[in-house]
Amino acid sequence: MIKIEELLRQVIAELQEIKQGQVRLEKTQRNMAKDIKAIKDYQRKGQDVDIERLKERVKKIMEKCVICDGIIEIKNLDFTFSFDRKKYTIPNIRHEVCSQCGEKFIDEETSKFIDKWTEENVYKNHKFNININDVISK
Ligand SMILES: [Zn+2]
Repeated sequence: MIKIEELLRQVIAELQEIKQGQVRLEKTQRNMAKDIKAIKDYQRKGQDVDIERLKERVKKIMEKCVICDGIIEIKNLDFTFSFDRKKYTIPNIRHEVCSQCGEKFIDEETSKFIDKWTEENVYKNHKFNININDVISK
């Protein structure tokens, strides 16, 4: 039986992940807005937009930590999580780690891999046994 507390913990953990993603997205959007403004300024002045320089700039934005602007390093680390009071570890997961604040990020492709792994190794064999009356009565 999954306890309400366990469910809540999972929901909170997921919400925190969503929040982290939002912070990242907002920062990227702000940077893109700056770039769009720069392109418009160029065009107004009748100058050509240097696509290569622009690509380089986008690459640089992606390489920086959205929280502290620190340099991002790629590291293959164990990814650990718990589900229904059991601990699971997936080895060699590609992490983007900030060298300054230590914040870890996982890209979309890796996140999909983790979801697939969890589906096959955890959820598939797990008997979900939630009694709706337990949920209502608490
Ligand atoms: Zn950082």
